[in-house]
Amino acid sequence: MRPITYSRAPDTDTAIAAVSSDPTSDFLAGGTTEVDLLRQNVLTPRRLVDINDLPLTGIEATPAGGLRIGSLARMSEVAAAPVVRERFPVIAQALELGASAQLRNMASMGGNLLQRVRCSYFRDAESPCNKREPGTGCSAIEGFSRGHAVLGTSEHCIATHPSDVAVALMALDATVHTQGAEGERSYAIDDFFLLPGNTPHREHPMAHGELITAIEVPAAPVARKSLYLKVRDRESYEFALASVAVALSLVDDTVADVRVALGGVATKPWRARRAEDFLIGAVAERVNFEQAARVELIEARPTAMNAFKVELARRAIVRALETLAGNGSPA
Ligand SMILES: Cc1cc2nc3c(=O)[nH]c(=O)nc-3n(C[C@H](O)[C@H](O)[C@H](O)COP(=O)(O)OP(=O)(O)OC[C@H]3O[C@@H](n4cnc5c(N)ncnc54)[C@H](O)[C@@H]3O)c2cc1C
Ligand code: SF4
Repeated sequence: MRPITYSRAPDTDTAIAAVSSDPTSDFLAGGTTEVDLLRQNVLTPRRLVDINDLPLTGIEATPAGGLRIGSLARMSEVAAAPVVRERFPVIAQALELGASAQLRNMASMGGNLLQRVRCSYFRDAESPCNKREPGTGCSAIEGFSRGHAVLGTSEHCIATHPSDVAVALMALDATVHTQGAEGERSYAIDDFFLLPGNTPHREHPMAHGELITAIEVPAAPVARKSLYLKVRDRESYEFALASVAVALSLVDDTVADVRVALGGVATKPWRARRAEDFLIGAVAERVNFEQAARVELIEARPTAMNAFKVELARRAIVRALETLAGNGSPA
């Protein structure tokens, strides 16, 4: 048995100082990732610093029409907040389609962004895995890869990013605010999640001991008409095989503004910029939605086991766009 020290930080500075000064320590929020992986010997911290007393739970509308979510706000609280449901329904839907009610009550927004991959080789604590133990190889590439990524992969890792709400936040150009030993920082969400490349063990640019304090979503009128569509093996309590966050604004029948991001198919929450570029100014009809989906998936690199995800992602994009355009059945 490994001994673990537990302390409850009374304020933000103490929490950051405690973790920054000790490479064997981790923050503890809801614990739904951290404790799971600790029990499985995937994470081996010697010290847990509980951050649940920190004043980081607010969910506020910003004067400019955006949203600021404290990193310790629970998934269920954010999903239920009227400002989220009115201005950014895609965020509420992505949260409600994730995990289970009990988990959503425990799990924090900061912890959600930092949850770890569901790759079984990563989680068994034994198989060669470049993410868990750099340089040991990737067991999934020649192994069981049905749930793995088809976009943003490298020869060193093909694990799918698991968060649902991160996909909605990616579509909405959110910013992740942090505080660390070096002071405060802000990351555009697209820069916050790193592609695996040669360094799959690095999933974000934060230093050890850097604390996510808030997530900010800028005003986006387009988001009032937005949707999160999640395709999975069973209807609840399951991660996405493919998911899509879409926001759409039409003038007459033409696409005036659109946001598309994908989950379940990429190594990071995937902003579908090719699809967006194709759609702006196009007539909102199925043939254009299909072409947008095709151009987005053009660089997909599936394995033999997950080739079905390419078509699944294309169909999810088309269905979500059709639903928002009023041409299709509700998702
Ligand atoms: C059975 C199961 C099913 C799930 N299904 C889904 C799903 O369908 N969709 C989905 O999106 N998620 C799903 N999840 C993941 C779940 O949403 C995450 O485990 C949860 O959001 C993590 O939040 P937490 O507060 O419990 O984090 P913790 O477990 O406390 O922390 C997670 C990690 O983040 C670090 N951390 C936490 N907060 C901060 C912070 N503020 N700053 C810096 N570091 C921090 C911790 O040190 C740790 O490394 C599922 C989880 C389980 C167990
Ligand atoms: S896909 Fe990534 S997480 Fe899974 S075994 Fe390969 S390196 Fe590890």
